[in-house]
Amino acid sequence: MPHYKYLIVGGGITADAAVEGIRSIDREAAIGLIGAEPDPPYNRPPLSKGLWKGDALERIWRKTQARGVDLYLGRKAVSLDFAARAINDSQGARYTYEKLLLATGVTPRRLPSASGVIYYRALSDYNTLRALSGEGRSFAVIGGGFIGWEIAAALKMNGNEVVMIFPEETIGARLYPADLGRFLNRYYREKGVRIVAGGQITALEKTPRGARVQTQAHGNFEVDGVVAGIGVTPETSLAQAAGLKIDNGIMVDEFLRTSDPHIYAAGDVANFHNPILDRRLRVEHEDNANVMGRAAGANMAGGQAPYRHLPFFYSDLFELGYEAVGDLDPRLEIVADWKEPYREGVLYYLQAGRVRGVLLWNTYGQVDEARKLIAEPGPFRPADLKGRLPAA
Ligand SMILES: Cc1cc2nc3c(=O)[nH]c(=O)nc-3n(C[C@H](O)[C@H](O)[C@H](O)COP(=O)(O)OP(=O)(O)OC[C@H]3O[C@@H](n4cnc5c(N)ncnc54)[C@H](O)[C@@H]3O)c2cc1C
Repeated sequence: MPHYKYLIVGGGITADAAVEGIRSIDREAAIGLIGAEPDPPYNRPPLSKGLWKGDALERIWRKTQARGVDLYLGRKAVSLDFAARAINDSQGARYTYEKLLLATGVTPRRLPSASGVIYYRALSDYNTLRALSGEGRSFAVIGGGFIGWEIAAALKMNGNEVVMIFPEETIGARLYPADLGRFLNRYYREKGVRIVAGGQITALEKTPRGARVQTQAHGNFEVDGVVAGIGVTPETSLAQAAGLKIDNGIMVDEFLRTSDPHIYAAGDVANFHNPILDRRLRVEHEDNANVMGRAAGANMAGGQAPYRHLPFFYSDLFELGYEAVGDLDPRLEIVADWKEPYREGVLYYLQAGRVRGVLLWNTYGQVDEARKLIAEPGPFRPADLKGRLPAA
């Protein structure tokens, strides 16, 4: 039975960053990593961006092996015995640990009773979609969020026909104000993507060609394949069965410890308190996975650093792109400071005179300034924010 000073469950960005964090303090001790995917840790963002623009596949690997880690891949941790400090995996192996990290990420939500749908999350999904796609092939992309808008663009840029179906009125309705969303609907249409906003799917059938997607009021679509990006849920099953505290993710303290002091959690699965926004967050973004993973690893190895980072995130929409920090809730008061409407500018999301979030639309290098602004107590009036970022 292998024994590890540090055992990690999950094989994503967070897991790899945690190895880096451990090794920054402890260069010698044994680290074990159990990952359900057959591949070692890799960066996920290129799966919906760079790899469709010609970036080499080799660039996605995190090279975790080089840091002296025993990788147990293609197997799931199926039970956690916290009293014995032991994990059992799906192949019948048992591991014991001194410190455990749960970096189990998220699981895509599924459409009811639909088979053959690609729930885009892993390298295997990229490989499946890449093999299916090509000049003149056609796809339905279900969902108007991150995965939906990125995959729709990726497929279209590679010669595929794309219909994007989502129940909201606009692309990105959960993040962007309505006018920016309406612009994005137009922009995607100009790029040749068919937009079915307000679309409700009533049936999804497999056909010899691929699939038939039926909608309530917008007709049926015969396509070669269907990609769905309809949200994710934190993968807490192992933690929950072991009795750890769960509330929209695994609850952690400022040192990223769960309710069991020998068990840490980080990345997409972790629910943590952010002192700048003064509320608990669960964040599904790369910067958080990297920084929180490193912090958890270092703390497991004896570090004492509280996690106070306010993560940023980013995305691409054809030639447009952005970086963003904080709360992007379109129900907040939004002050738009466009240099060129919808092409370049900064959007400030305000609540009771405080900046809660900043969307840096085609505006780069301002993330730290945006974080400082969110940390300022204000109060800010809209006029105070015009021209504030980038700093004049
Ligand atoms: C296609 C795509 C594009 C993205 N683009 C961006 C972007 O542009 N910008 C951005 O900021 N963020 C982006 N993200 C989000 C970012 O990649 C995630 O926030 C990050 O990958 C989270 O890492 P994680 O390690 O916490 O979780 P995950 O990446 O979900 O990894 C968790 C791993 O743990 C494994 N696992 C789960 N349970 C078990 C178990 N019981 N036993 C063993 N293994 C288990 C899973 O199989 C998975 O491999 C993107 C994500 C995707 C999918």
